[in-house]
Amino acid sequence: MNDLELRKALIATAIELNTSGINQGTSGNVSVRTENGFLITPSGLQYADLEPSDVVLMDFNGDFDSDRQPSSEWRFHLDIYRHSHDEGENKGHDVGAIVHTHSTYATAIACLKRCIPAFHYMVAVAGGHDIRCAPYATFGSQELSDFAIEALVDRKACLLAHHGVIATGGNLAKAFALACEIETLAHQYLEALKVGQPEILSRTEMDKVLEKFKTYGAQAQ
Ligand code: 13P
Ligand code: ZN
Repeated sequence: MNDLELRKALIATAIELNTSGINQGTSGNVSVRTENGFLITPSGLQYADLEPSDVVLMDFNGDFDSDRQPSSEWRFHLDIYRHSHDEGENKGHDVGAIVHTHSTYATAIACLKRCIPAFHYMVAVAGGHDIRCAPYATFGSQELSDFAIEALVDRKACLLAHHGVIATGGNLAKAFALACEIETLAHQYLEALKVGQPEILSRTEMDKVLEKFKTYGAQAQ
């Protein structure tokens, strides 16, 4: 995709966050990797009003040249892209896009400072045995980014205490799909908790699921 196509795709994804119901208002933000940096939604603007020129191009030093201010969360977007190439961390998961939302059910769990454990095998879609919750830090701060990076080690997604969710993926569609999947899991987990304490699947079982996920869905590529 060229620059203009990527800007349009980014805006379409941001709008979809709200039309799908997993986000609302100007909460959340979206970014997509480019050759030398990433495109990110501008701060505090309604997604439906965005023009391609409103999208901010930032390099991997955090520099940008735009009339618009980048999302206040540019630090964690930048740090996630930087870390996604690190050996050992994220285990080869190359991040091409990042979606951050305040989706209702996942945020409710994050407000309890709880992770999403392996109550359902689909928790493995986030890359591990659980979906961690990063400790609270002020939105837009470097501290929040540092906590998020830690919660994302070997994971494609995490919760942010008293705040929301981060989902990553190889491209915009995958990052968005993961954000939706996590919201569904959070909803299911909260429903189950209304009735009792769901049993948590063993690490051995989740390792099996993680192995199967390496090939699951491959025919759709
Ligand atoms: P921005 O509008 O600056 O992206 O902020 C929204 C948000 O979710 C902050 O955490
Ligand atoms: Zn937020």
